[in-house]
Amino acid sequence: MQIILQRLLELQNVDVQLNETRARLATIPKKLADADARAASAKAELDQSKAAQLAAFKDRKKYELDVEQWKERVRKYRDQTSQIKTNEAYKALQHEVQLAEDEIAKAEDRLLEQMVAGEDYDRRIKAAEKSLKEVEDVVRVQRSKIETEKAAAEKVFAELTAERARVVAEIPENLLDHYDRIARKHNSVALAEVRDEKCSACGMRVRPHVFQEMRRLGSDEMFHCETCTRILYYIEPSFRPSASAEAHSDAQPNES
Ligand SMILES: [Zn+2]
Repeated sequence: MQIILQRLLELQNVDVQLNETRARLATIPKKLADADARAASAKAELDQSKAAQLAAFKDRKKYELDVEQWKERVRKYRDQTSQIKTNEAYKALQHEVQLAEDEIAKAEDRLLEQMVAGEDYDRRIKAAEKSLKEVEDVVRVQRSKIETEKAAAEKVFAELTAERARVVAEIPENLLDHYDRIARKHNSVALAEVRDEKCSACGMRVRPHVFQEMRRLGSDEMFHCETCTRILYYIEPSFRPSASAEAHSDAQPNES
Protein backbone atom coordinates (compact mmCIF):
# COMPACT_ATOMS: atom_id res chain seq x y z
CA MET A 1 0.00 0.00 0.00
CA GLN A 2 1.17 3.53 -0.73
CA ILE A 3 2.82 5.21 2.22
CA ILE A 4 0.44 8.18 2.01
CA LEU A 5 -2.57 5.85 2.21
CA GLN A 6 -1.00 4.28 5.29
CA ARG A 7 -0.73 7.74 6.84
CA LEU A 8 -4.36 8.52 6.01
CA LEU A 9 -5.40 5.18 7.44
CA GLU A 10 -3.52 6.00 10.64
CA LEU A 11 -5.28 9.35 10.73
CA GLN A 12 -8.66 7.69 10.22
CA ASN A 13 -7.92 5.27 13.03
CA VAL A 14 -7.11 8.18 15.36
CA ASP A 15 -10.17 10.14 14.22
CA VAL A 16 -12.54 7.23 14.82
CA GLN A 17 -11.14 6.87 18.35
CA LEU A 18 -11.37 10.62 18.89
CA ASN A 19 -15.04 10.50 17.88
CA GLU A 20 -15.75 7.66 20.30
CA THR A 21 -13.95 9.47 23.11
CA ARG A 22 -15.77 12.71 22.33
CA ALA A 23 -19.09 10.83 22.45
CA ARG A 24 -18.11 9.27 25.79
CA LEU A 25 -17.23 12.69 27.23
CA ALA A 26 -20.51 14.13 25.96
CA THR A 27 -22.49 11.68 28.13
CA ILE A 28 -20.72 12.78 31.35
CA PRO A 29 -22.71 15.96 32.19
CA LYS A 30 -26.02 14.10 31.94
CA LYS A 31 -24.72 11.23 34.10
CA LEU A 32 -23.63 13.74 36.76
CA ALA A 33 -26.94 15.60 36.53
CA ASP A 34 -28.88 12.33 36.89
CA ALA A 35 -26.90 11.42 40.01
CA ASP A 36 -27.49 14.89 41.48
CA ALA A 37 -31.19 14.69 40.64
CA ARG A 38 -31.44 11.44 42.63
CA ALA A 39 -29.93 13.11 45.69
CA ALA A 40 -32.10 16.20 45.22
CA SER A 41 -35.25 14.10 45.04
CA ALA A 42 -34.39 12.31 48.30
CA LYS A 43 -33.69 15.68 49.91
CA ALA A 44 -37.03 17.04 48.64
CA GLU A 45 -38.84 14.05 50.20
CA LEU A 46 -37.27 14.88 53.57
CA ASP A 47 -38.10 18.58 53.21
CA GLN A 48 -41.71 17.71 52.39
CA SER A 49 -41.97 15.44 55.43
CA LYS A 50 -40.62 18.18 57.66
CA ALA A 51 -42.97 20.77 56.15
CA ALA A 52 -45.93 18.41 56.68
CA GLN A 53 -44.89 17.91 60.30
CA LEU A 54 -44.62 21.65 60.86
CA ALA A 55 -48.05 22.24 59.29
CA ALA A 56 -49.51 19.52 61.54
CA PHE A 57 -47.88 21.10 64.58
CA LYS A 58 -49.44 24.48 63.72
CA ASP A 59 -52.84 22.80 63.28
CA ARG A 60 -52.46 21.19 66.69
CA LYS A 61 -51.71 24.53 68.32
CA LYS A 62 -54.80 25.99 66.65
CA TYR A 63 -57.04 23.14 67.85
CA GLU A 64 -55.63 23.47 71.36
CA LEU A 65 -56.50 27.15 71.24
CA ASP A 66 -60.00 26.32 69.93
CA VAL A 67 -60.56 23.98 72.87
CA GLU A 68 -59.41 26.68 75.30
CA GLN A 69 -61.65 29.33 73.74
CA TRP A 70 -64.76 27.13 73.80
CA LYS A 71 -64.07 26.15 77.40
CA GLU A 72 -63.72 29.80 78.31
CA ARG A 73 -67.09 30.50 76.69
CA VAL A 74 -68.70 27.65 78.64
CA ARG A 75 -67.32 29.11 81.88
CA LYS A 76 -68.83 32.51 81.01
CA TYR A 77 -72.23 30.93 80.29
CA ARG A 78 -72.16 29.12 83.61
CA ASP A 79 -71.29 32.37 85.41
CA GLN A 80 -74.33 33.98 83.79
CA THR A 81 -76.64 31.19 85.01
CA SER A 82 -77.06 32.79 88.46
CA GLN A 83 -78.43 35.97 86.89
CA ILE A 84 -81.01 34.13 84.76
CA LYS A 85 -84.57 35.07 85.67
CA THR A 86 -86.75 33.13 83.26
CA ASN A 87 -87.00 29.54 82.32
CA GLU A 88 -86.82 30.53 78.63
CA ALA A 89 -83.54 32.38 79.08
CA TYR A 90 -82.18 29.45 81.11
CA LYS A 91 -83.04 27.02 78.33
CA ALA A 92 -81.48 29.30 75.74
CA LEU A 93 -78.29 29.52 77.78
CA GLN A 94 -78.23 25.75 78.28
CA HIS A 95 -78.55 25.41 74.53
CA GLU A 96 -75.52 27.71 74.04
CA VAL A 97 -73.54 25.66 76.56
CA GLN A 98 -74.44 22.50 74.71
CA LEU A 99 -73.31 23.98 71.38
CA ALA A 100 -70.02 25.10 72.92
CA GLU A 101 -69.43 21.68 74.44
CA ASP A 102 -70.07 20.08 71.06
CA GLU A 103 -67.43 22.39 69.60
CA ILE A 104 -65.01 21.40 72.36
CA ALA A 105 -65.60 17.73 71.59
CA LYS A 106 -65.00 18.32 67.87
CA ALA A 107 -61.82 20.31 68.47
CA GLU A 108 -60.58 17.62 70.86
CA ASP A 109 -61.27 14.95 68.24
CA ARG A 110 -59.28 16.90 65.68
CA LEU A 111 -56.53 17.36 68.23
CA LEU A 112 -56.40 13.65 68.90
CA GLU A 113 -56.27 12.90 65.16
CA GLN A 114 -53.39 15.33 64.79
CA MET A 115 -51.50 13.73 67.67
CA VAL A 116 -51.89 10.28 66.11
CA ALA A 117 -50.90 11.67 62.71
CA GLY A 118 -47.93 13.39 64.36
CA GLU A 119 -46.41 9.98 65.07
CA ASP A 120 -46.77 9.16 61.36
CA TYR A 121 -44.95 12.37 60.47
CA ASP A 122 -42.13 11.46 62.84
CA ARG A 123 -41.85 8.02 61.24
CA ARG A 124 -41.95 9.53 57.76
CA ILE A 125 -39.17 11.97 58.61
CA LYS A 126 -37.01 9.21 60.10
CA ALA A 127 -37.52 7.07 56.96
CA ALA A 128 -36.78 10.04 54.69
CA GLU A 129 -33.60 10.83 56.64
CA LYS A 130 -32.44 7.22 56.39
CA SER A 131 -33.26 7.10 52.68
CA LEU A 132 -31.48 10.42 52.03
CA LYS A 133 -28.35 9.15 53.74
CA GLU A 134 -28.39 5.95 51.67
CA VAL A 135 -29.00 7.82 48.42
CA GLU A 136 -26.24 10.31 49.25
CA ASP A 137 -23.81 7.44 49.83
CA VAL A 138 -24.78 5.81 46.52
CA VAL A 139 -24.57 9.13 44.67
CA ARG A 140 -21.15 9.88 46.18
CA VAL A 141 -19.82 6.56 44.81
CA GLN A 142 -21.58 7.17 41.48
CA ARG A 143 -20.15 10.67 41.13
CA SER A 144 -16.66 9.45 41.96
CA LYS A 145 -16.95 6.70 39.30
CA ILE A 146 -18.18 9.21 36.72
CA GLU A 147 -15.36 11.63 37.57
CA THR A 148 -12.83 8.81 37.19
CA GLU A 149 -14.40 7.87 33.85
CA LYS A 150 -14.25 11.51 32.79
CA ALA A 151 -10.60 11.90 33.76
CA ALA A 152 -9.70 8.70 31.89
CA ALA A 153 -11.56 9.83 28.76
CA GLU A 154 -9.94 13.28 28.94
CA LYS A 155 -6.51 11.64 29.19
CA VAL A 156 -7.24 9.44 26.16
CA PHE A 157 -8.58 12.47 24.32
CA ALA A 158 -5.39 14.46 24.99
CA GLU A 159 -3.23 11.52 23.88
CA LEU A 160 -5.26 11.05 20.69
CA THR A 161 -5.11 14.77 19.95
CA ALA A 162 -1.31 14.69 20.26
CA GLU A 163 -1.23 11.54 18.14
CA ARG A 164 -3.37 13.24 15.49
CA ALA A 165 -1.02 16.22 15.37
CA ARG A 166 1.89 13.83 14.86
CA VAL A 167 0.11 11.96 12.03
CA VAL A 168 -1.23 15.11 10.39
CA ALA A 169 2.28 16.62 10.24
CA GLU A 170 3.22 13.96 7.72
CA ILE A 171 0.27 14.55 5.39
CA PRO A 172 0.30 17.30 2.73
CA GLU A 173 -2.22 20.02 3.44
CA ASN A 174 -4.28 19.66 0.26
CA LEU A 175 -4.64 15.94 0.87
CA LEU A 176 -5.63 16.62 4.46
CA ASP A 177 -8.38 18.99 3.29
CA HIS A 178 -9.53 16.36 0.86
CA TYR A 179 -9.59 13.74 3.64
CA ASP A 180 -11.43 16.07 6.04
CA ARG A 181 -14.12 16.83 3.46
CA ILE A 182 -14.85 13.15 2.89
CA ALA A 183 -14.49 12.27 6.59
CA ARG A 184 -17.06 14.91 7.58
CA LYS A 185 -19.60 13.31 5.26
CA HIS A 186 -18.95 9.81 6.56
CA ASN A 187 -18.58 10.10 10.34
CA SER A 188 -14.75 10.18 10.30
CA VAL A 189 -14.46 7.26 7.91
CA ALA A 190 -12.91 8.69 4.74
CA LEU A 191 -11.13 5.53 3.65
CA ALA A 192 -12.61 2.22 2.59
CA GLU A 193 -10.79 -1.02 2.00
CA VAL A 194 -11.35 -2.83 -1.28
CA ARG A 195 -12.33 -6.40 -0.55
CA ASP A 196 -13.42 -8.92 -3.17
CA GLU A 197 -13.04 -6.06 -5.66
CA LYS A 198 -15.75 -4.10 -3.86
CA CYS A 199 -15.79 -0.98 -1.70
CA SER A 200 -16.15 -2.48 1.79
CA ALA A 201 -18.01 0.61 3.00
CA CYS A 202 -20.85 0.72 0.47
CA GLY A 203 -20.46 -2.54 -1.44
CA MET A 204 -19.99 -0.90 -4.84
CA ARG A 205 -17.92 -2.95 -7.30
CA VAL A 206 -14.57 -1.42 -8.25
CA ARG A 207 -13.88 -1.29 -12.00
CA PRO A 208 -11.40 -4.01 -13.06
CA HIS A 209 -8.84 -1.57 -14.50
CA VAL A 210 -8.97 0.48 -11.30
CA PHE A 211 -8.46 -2.65 -9.25
CA GLN A 212 -5.52 -3.68 -11.46
CA GLU A 213 -3.95 -0.24 -11.09
CA MET A 214 -4.45 -0.29 -7.31
CA ARG A 215 -2.57 -3.58 -7.10
CA ARG A 216 0.28 -2.38 -9.32
CA LEU A 217 3.43 -1.94 -7.31
CA GLY A 218 4.69 1.63 -7.26
CA SER A 219 1.36 3.10 -8.30
CA ASP A 220 0.85 6.52 -6.73
CA GLU A 221 -2.59 7.29 -8.06
CA MET A 222 -5.42 7.72 -5.56
CA PHE A 223 -8.77 6.13 -6.30
CA HIS A 224 -12.19 6.87 -4.96
CA CYS A 225 -15.33 4.81 -4.69
CA GLU A 226 -17.65 5.99 -7.45
CA THR A 227 -20.66 5.71 -5.18
CA CYS A 228 -19.66 6.84 -1.69
CA THR A 229 -16.57 8.88 -2.77
CA ARG A 230 -14.39 7.36 -0.03
CA ILE A 231 -10.68 6.98 -0.70
CA LEU A 232 -10.01 3.36 -1.61
CA TYR A 233 -7.11 1.27 -0.40
CA TYR A 234 -6.20 -2.31 -1.01
CA ILE A 235 -4.18 -4.70 1.10
CA GLU A 236 -2.98 -7.85 -0.63
CA PRO A 237 -4.58 -10.78 1.22
CA SER A 238 -1.15 -12.18 2.07
CA PHE A 239 -0.33 -8.93 3.92
CA ARG A 240 -3.51 -8.86 5.94
CA PRO A 241 -2.97 -9.64 9.61
CA SER A 242 -5.92 -12.03 9.55
CA ALA A 243 -4.91 -13.69 6.27
CA SER A 244 -5.19 -17.45 6.39
CA ALA A 245 -2.82 -19.88 4.68
CA GLU A 246 -4.85 -20.33 1.49
CA ALA A 247 -5.22 -16.57 1.10
CA HIS A 248 -1.60 -16.51 -0.10
CA SER A 249 -2.86 -17.73 -3.42
CA ASP A 250 -4.05 -14.74 -5.41
CA ALA A 251 -6.77 -16.81 -7.06
CA GLN A 252 -8.54 -17.41 -3.73
CA PRO A 253 -10.87 -14.67 -2.64
CA ASN A 254 -10.24 -13.90 1.01
CA GLU A 255 -13.29 -14.85 3.04
CA SER A 256 -11.74 -14.45 6.47
ZN1 LIG B 1 -18.06 3.06 -1.54
